[in-house]
Formats: sequence, C-alpha cells, structure tokens
Amino acid sequence: MKKLISIVIPIYNEAEHLKDSIILIVNQVNNLGIPFELIFIDDGSKDASWNIIMELHTIIPQIRAYRLSRNFGKEQALCAGLEKAEGDGVIIMDADLQHPPKLIKDMIEAWKCGAEIVECIKVSRGDEPYINKIGSRLFYAMLKLFSGYSLNGASDYKLMDRKVVNEWKKMDERNVFFRGMAAWLGFRVEKIPFSVDKRAGGKSTWSVKNLVKLGIKAIVSFSTIPLRIVSVLGVSFLLAAILMIIQTLYMKFSGNAVTGFTTVIVLLLIIGSVLMISLGVIGEYIAAIYNEVKHRPRFIISEGTEKKSEIKS
Ligand code: UDP
Ligand code: MG
Repeated sequence: MKKLISIVIPIYNEAEHLKDSIILIVNQVNNLGIPFELIFIDDGSKDASWNIIMELHTIIPQIRAYRLSRNFGKEQALCAGLEKAEGDGVIIMDADLQHPPKLIKDMIEAWKCGAEIVECIKVSRGDEPYINKIGSRLFYAMLKLFSGYSLNGASDYKLMDRKVVNEWKKMDERNVFFRGMAAWLGFRVEKIPFSVDKRAGGKSTWSVKNLVKLGIKAIVSFSTIPLRIVSVLGVSFLLAAILMIIQTLYMKFSGNAVTGFTTVIVLLLIIGSVLMISLGVIGEYIAAIYNEVKHRPRFIISEGTEKKSEIKS
C-alpha cells in the first residue's frame, strides 16, 4: 500500500496569492503520483483567505481545512496541523512559496531512503531585511551558547515521519518553538539545502518585535543558563563587594572616609541595573511557568471541513 503524505500549511492573511500558491503546490505533488492530503490551518486570517480555502476545497478533494478562532501565531497553527494530519509522512511548509514546492520530491525520496526527519536548511535567507538577517545570526549564536542546539539555517520546512509526529504530539508544552522542539526529538535527520524564495505576495508578519519575542521564548524554553548567569553575577558582585568593603574600612581607619562619592554613584547605578536585569530574567521564567500551569488549549478550532473517508491521489 502506498504511504500517505500530509502537507500542513499554516495560513494567515495570504489571500492575495493563496490560490496560485496552492495550485502550484498541488500540481507539484500530483506529478509525484502519491496519495496525499493537504491540511490547511487558517490562523484567524482577517482577509478572504478562509473563503479562498473553501473555494479550493470544492475543487481539490485532498484538502482538509480548519479555522482557528483567532490569530494564535504560526507555532500554534502548526500544532493544530500536526494534530490533524494523518499521513505516514507529514510535510510542514509555508503558504507563501518561500519554501520551494519543488523540494517536496527530494524530501519524500530522502524519507523513503530511511530519514525520519528531512529538514530543509536555508543557505541564503532571500530578500529579508538586513536587521532580520543580523538578528537571526545573533539569536542562533545565543541559542547555541545557551542550549547547545545549533539551529543556524534551520527552517520550519520539514518532513517528519509518523513516528516523529507521534512523539512530537506528546510534548505538551504551551511555549512552542517548533524548530527547536523538532531538533530536541532527535531521530535520523537528513538535511537539504535551499535558498529562500521571494514571498509570493503580501508581506511577512514577522516584525522585529515579534522576532525578539520568539527569540526570548525559544531561549527560555530551551535553556536555564540565563538563570545561572544571574547567580554568577551575584557571586561576582559579592567578591567585588568584599574588596570594596576592605578598601572602605581601610579608608575610614586611615582618616579619608568622606571621599569616594563618585564611586558610590557609579556602584549604585551598576548594581541597580544588574538587579533589574536579573529580576527581568527571573520574571521571564516565571511568566513561562505561569503560562504552562494555566494549561490553556494551544489553539481553538472554530470550524473545519469534514474528513473525507477516502483520500485518493
Ligand atoms: N503564519 C501563521 N500565523 C501567523 C503568522 C504567519 O500561520 O500569525 C503563517 C503564514 O501564513 C505563512 C507562514 O506562517 O504561511 C510563515 O509566515 P511569514 O511568511 O509571515 O513568515 P516569514 O516567512 O517571514 O518567516
Ligand atoms: Mg514567509
């Protein structure tokens, strides 16, 4: 029996080019002659994306689509997609053709040759603004330093074997960082290099603010080293304090106690800032724990298409 491939696509405000992009993806997969299903997760789009998905659903029987009750974010939309996918192999890709559909063939071949995760690695980041390119380098360097995971060039464009998806689904955390969690799972990974294409239309939703938020979320969920840095800072300041105490006492007993006003101001400012940063770091972890213990659903599906009883290629 031929193995079923699921293609999970998160969609947020992609109406401008969605129809053309999906038809292109479907044509690519149709040429491979394998059974497949398309799982669309509309992540609370405010434009006509859902109507276009419904229109495509009437002409492409392999489509199953789910609409989230609001915009939950790409990572959460991916969770919904992986939850709904039923394929023996599950491909995750963007709707904007920045993940070239022609790679699907190579991914499936690598999977059939025994790879359990096929990961497409960005060798060039396309026409991304420079600030994003520098920011992402900095972020991956920090992540490597803090967590030991080298994710430079990693993308969400992946194929995961059913066995990997089942393990992924056991990771019940709210703070989802898909790329990192997929790396954490292990398994036999095959890498395929690719250059990020231009967006098919519309514009990226990733503002610098969102990227910084994702960066903090990723580091907090993958490493506790920032907390250790707070402790190390505390110890270093204690050592400095001992030296200062000795010096101050010496000054006092040698009759020069009134000088040193500048030192006091500088020390106050340094200690104040370090304390605030430390509190901030601890606060990030407490916020992460708070979000986990609330145990709210990761996403809410407000409507969806019926599952087709039989999916043919
Ligand atoms: N996306 C989503 N929810 C969001 C933001 C984005 O589902 O809140 C989808 C979007 O429709 C696209 C993919 O995630 O299919 C990647 O988004 P985008 O192109 O904006 O990110 P970039 O390619 O710039 O990283
Ligand atoms: Mg994109």
